[in-house]
Amino acid sequence: MCGIVGYLGGRNATGILLEGLQRLEYRGYDSAGLATYNRGSLQVTKRVGRVKKLVGAVSGQPSRAKLGICHTRWATHGRVTEENAHPHLSCDGKIALVHNGVIENYAPIKKFLQSAGYTFSSQTDTEILSNLIAYHYRKEMDCGENSRLFESVRKALLQVEGTYGIAVICADCPSEIIGGRNGSPLILGVGSKEILLASDVAGLVSRTPKVVYLNDGEIVHIREGDFSISTLDAEAIHPVINEVDWDVSESALGHFPHYMLKEIFDQPEALENAMRGRFSMDKSTAKFGGLNVTPQDFRQIDRFRLCGCRTAWHACVCLEFLIEIPLPQRAAG
Ligand code: GLU
Repeated sequence: MCGIVGYLGGRNATGILLEGLQRLEYRGYDSAGLATYNRGSLQVTKRVGRVKKLVGAVSGQPSRAKLGICHTRWATHGRVTEENAHPHLSCDGKIALVHNGVIENYAPIKKFLQSAGYTFSSQTDTEILSNLIAYHYRKEMDCGENSRLFESVRKALLQVEGTYGIAVICADCPSEIIGGRNGSPLILGVGSKEILLASDVAGLVSRTPKVVYLNDGEIVHIREGDFSISTLDAEAIHPVINEVDWDVSESALGHFPHYMLKEIFDQPEALENAMRGRFSMDKSTAKFGGLNVTPQDFRQIDRFRLCGCRTAWHACVCLEFLIEIPLPQRAAG
C-alpha cells in the first residue's frame, strides 16, 4: 500500500517520477501528489484518486525540474482529501515531505509546534514532520561539514516515534534529497548521473538495476551524483550495492512467474500494511480514523447498517454475528 518515489539527476524529474509512481499503483492508494524544485521554490500538485489524474494536472505545467518527490497515499490519519494528500509543505514553504507509515507521537509534537507559531493545513500525522524539520532547519544555522537539511531531518527523526519511510526536499537545496526509514521500506537506485529513491524496487528499476536497501534507523543523504548513508546518531554506514536481475516489464511481478503466486507471497506484507497505524497496542484494540465513538456511546446504538460487496460483504457478515451476540445479554441487563 502507498508509495514513494524521489529523483535527482540530469533529466526531467516530473516525467520520471510519475512513471515510477505508476509502477507502484498496483499497491493500492487513495490519492497522489508530486513536489518538484523550481528555481528556489517548491511546486506541489495533489489529486484525490488515480495517478492519471495527477498526470493530467501536471501535464500543462512547464517544468524543467531536476529534483522532486512524489507519493501515493493510503490514509491512516485524516480523510481522503487533497489537503491531506502528500507531499506536505512546512508552513514556511521551505520543506516538502512524503511519508509512508504512522507517526505515533504526532499529537504532542503538533501541540509544541503550534505553540511555537507553526500552522497546519491538514489532518494528517505526517504534516508534523515537515514542520518539525522546518523548525530544526531554522535553528541549524551552523552545521560545520554537514548539510543543514540533513541535520534538520536527522534531529526531527530522533524525536518521532512510529513507522516511516520518508523523502524530503528543501526550497534552498537544488541538489539534495534526504530519505529515512523505520519500519517502512525505502530503496536507493544508483543510476548513471542520477539517483532515485523508492519504497519499492518497481518504482525505480526502469532507470537502474543498482540498488541499496536501507535498513531501519538509517538516513540517506543524496547529492548530485553522490550519496551517503548514516544512522540516526550520524554514524556512517558502508552501503552495499545490489544488482536487481529482473527488468522493467517484470517489475510489478518481481521474481514471481505469475500474479497469483505473487499475491500469495505478498499476503504477510499486505496484512502488515493494512493493520499499520490501525491498532492501539497499549489498549489492545483497533483504531479507526473515521469512527471515533467511545465504547459507552457504541453500546447506545440500536441499529447498524453494514454495506459492502465481495470480501467487504463477508466482513460485514462476520461483524453482524459479532454485534448481534451481545444483544440478548444487553436486553437482559
Ligand atoms: N499516515 C500518513 C497519512 O495518513 C501516511 C499514510 C501512508 O502510509 O500513505 O497521511
